[in-house]
Amino acid sequence: MVNKPDTKPYQTILYCMILIVDDNQNNIYSLKKLLESHDFPVDTANSGEEALGKALKNNYALIILDVQMPGMDGFEVAETFSGYSKTKEIPIIFLSAVNTDKRFITRGYNSGGMDYVTKPIDPEILMLKVKTFYNLQENNLAMKKTQQSLELEVKGRREAQIFMKSEIDHFHLMLEALPQIAFTINEDGFISFVNRKWYEYSESDQQFPETHPDDLNIEDEFQRCRKKGKPLELEARIKNLDSGDFRYHLLRMSPVYQDEKINNWVGTFTDIEDQKKMEKEKDEFLSIASHELKTPLTSIKAYIQLLDRKLKINNNLTEAVYAGKALDQIEKLNTLITDLLDVSKIENGKLKINKKPSDLEKLIHNTIDTILQTHDNPNVKIDRHIGKINQLVPFDAIRIEQVLINFLTNAIKYSPENNQVIVTTFVDDDEVKVSVTDFGIGIPEFKQDAVFRKFYRVEESSVQFQGMGIGLYICAEIIKQHHGTIGLSSKVEEGSTFYFTLPLN
Ligand code: ADP
Repeated sequence: MVNKPDTKPYQTILYCMILIVDDNQNNIYSLKKLLESHDFPVDTANSGEEALGKALKNNYALIILDVQMPGMDGFEVAETFSGYSKTKEIPIIFLSAVNTDKRFITRGYNSGGMDYVTKPIDPEILMLKVKTFYNLQENNLAMKKTQQSLELEVKGRREAQIFMKSEIDHFHLMLEALPQIAFTINEDGFISFVNRKWYEYSESDQQFPETHPDDLNIEDEFQRCRKKGKPLELEARIKNLDSGDFRYHLLRMSPVYQDEKINNWVGTFTDIEDQKKMEKEKDEFLSIASHELKTPLTSIKAYIQLLDRKLKINNNLTEAVYAGKALDQIEKLNTLITDLLDVSKIENGKLKINKKPSDLEKLIHNTIDTILQTHDNPNVKIDRHIGKINQLVPFDAIRIEQVLINFLTNAIKYSPENNQVIVTTFVDDDEVKVSVTDFGIGIPEFKQDAVFRKFYRVEESSVQFQGMGIGLYICAEIIKQHHGTIGLSSKVEEGSTFYFTLPLN
């Protein structure tokens, strides 16, 4: 059964009753009946004292007060009500049979009454007055409530503002304490705060430090990232105002979101000059060391090859096996040194590629064959999936073979429990995509971007598997020089797919 909604008109101020105060029970009875017949909630009191006690405890929307009562009369009651904050605003209608002359009526109004009704009462007129005062009081209370909530809101906002300001001050203090250059940018893209360190590199708190002419322009790069709402990270040399030297800094700028909207940006410049110098020295050392190692290694290789041939001619087959094994190891050493040389070539911008329209399908086929023939594990299976490439593609055959060998040897190396590898190609209007899939150990998602960095190795696998962490770095550079893309998708314990693309034109 559905309850009928309560349609009583005077239920809005639920706890606001009308209080009838009269020493005469008959008067109370008839007035109560009259009011209740109009759906007003009613309470009663037989004396001024009782009325006062009730009014201080309950909430009344209106008081109908008899003037002539033993003890406190109506005027005294009204005057007392006006002294209490809880009761002073309750409208009062006086009822009087005797005191009808002007003097009494005036006293009634002066003591806080809203109206003065003389007996005998005209019920219709009284009800009109009651309704009017009741509604007035109702509106009054509603207005008060609104005002109170407005005041609360204003107070809340003021407090939030004060809190925010102290938070911002605290944040700025923290930025001041940083050893880096730190700054913030507002949502309109203007610099809004800089710490003291900033002024070592810029004279104005509205201008980024001057960058080296060969490095990227910070303002341009920031605007590019701002459009995309993406964080910015770059290395650039910025000019120290004191010394006039350009020092390498790592700039990082991150958007700060509020309600899914960029509210501002926080940025830092970290001085990496010393680190860069050390890196350069290390690269130089690697470059010299690998060059110096390469020459004697070539001689060793030639002598062992001679020895191998001689041993075979003289039928010293056991010794020839040893010489063969030594040659395998020399080949591995040679690959390592060649990779190190490649790294130093990349660092010096000397890794050149020589593109020629070539048969990529044939290169893939030959590379798979080479891997299968030279690999120690005879159980390795490399499948070639999906469409063959029927057109010539411009690429440097030696370098692309190097990339493919790297992908394939990694796929086998990092899949100790599974020997299957799949090579897939896909050609569309603009490019060809070559993917190598394995079912090996996989790479955690947050480390996937890093595998293309120089000397990066995934920690979890670095102990179990040998390597230097430069193969993929070289691959990325080779593909970059072909204006292609390189990437991977991978799931831990399920396997990885490494891919590269080459533009067809
Ligand atoms: P290396 O294998 O010599 O360490 P690479 O540059 O070829 O160096 O690879 C970098 C790192 O990426 C590896 O150390 C390894 O952690 C991870 N990696 C590369 N290929 C795979 C693969 N197919 N499966 C799992 N991890 C891989």
